[in-house]
Amino acid sequence: MIGVIISTFECNLSCRYCYEHSDTYRTRTSKIVVNNAFAENLDACEEYISCLSELARRNRRSVQFILHGGEPLLIAPDNLEKLFELIRKNGNPAIQIQTNGTLITQRTAELFHQYDVGIVVSLDGPKSLHDEYRKNAGGFGTYSMVMRAIDLLRNNRVDVSALATVTELSSSRAKDIFTFFSCLGMDFSVNRCFPVLGMQGGISEQTYQTFLSMLFDLYRPTDSEHCGIKIPCFDRCIHDLKWDGSSYCYNPHVSPYVSVFCIPGKTFGFAAHGKNKRFDSLLEFRRFSETAVDYSSTGTVIRMKGSLKDAVIRHLCQQQANDYLSALTLGV
Ligand code: SF4
Repeated sequence: MIGVIISTFECNLSCRYCYEHSDTYRTRTSKIVVNNAFAENLDACEEYISCLSELARRNRRSVQFILHGGEPLLIAPDNLEKLFELIRKNGNPAIQIQTNGTLITQRTAELFHQYDVGIVVSLDGPKSLHDEYRKNAGGFGTYSMVMRAIDLLRNNRVDVSALATVTELSSSRAKDIFTFFSCLGMDFSVNRCFPVLGMQGGISEQTYQTFLSMLFDLYRPTDSEHCGIKIPCFDRCIHDLKWDGSSYCYNPHVSPYVSVFCIPGKTFGFAAHGKNKRFDSLLEFRRFSETAVDYSSTGTVIRMKGSLKDAVIRHLCQQQANDYLSALTLGV
């Protein structure tokens, strides 16, 4: 299971393709206000962590907590440490942070090492591809800051990987992206830049599938050719798919249930297999978690005909589109 904690909707950057790039989400509130809101909601957050941990235990699953935003590292290190302690106290060692990578300091790197936090930085590939969309508030590309942060994390023995958003500009550059991450020796996943009104860089599903197909061909051949780096989004799909003699079956039971807690609005969401449910109070969420003892019974098997490559591409596209819709539906 995955428990997503949205620590803030605020962000220090102004990426051109950001679907949160609007005043509705981000109003450039000061770090002090963001941190006060976070600290005030830590009790509710603790209850959420304990609820979800209990639900996972009863279903004999583990839960991974992912800290998300906006930009989660707007939260000060002292507050982050309190959160990590809460997660640990509930017996969940797996913590991950998805960050734009521009606010990482020596202090936070040491903290991540201490709590064994995995970091996923948003890095779209070579400088020209990254800087075109991922810009700071002044309109300058953030590539150099992100690369500095990666060095800092590696020097502090923090596990760091990347998430590359595939845009209009990069959709024909699978080979450049793959070579870039191979040279960096860094695992990376990819995500589609969805076409959203008013935002830039969005691509169609067909374009994304063509990109994935090129990337898959580069990834598969032999370990020596890609320096041993992994593309976890492909690996997860391959793991989820089983060949039954005529087609690949995807059993949604094996896919993680995703639960979302938003500190700014105290929204509680629960999404699974593309079905979204939103709880407006912790009490409702607790009631749900008390009854959802055996949620595996809700799963259905989806059949995917064709080669492994085709099945992986279809599965990944479908999953990411579901995640995207869930995020919109849940108000994340
Ligand atoms: S870092 Fe993420 S949240 Fe911030 S502007 Fe960029 S895409 Fe949006």
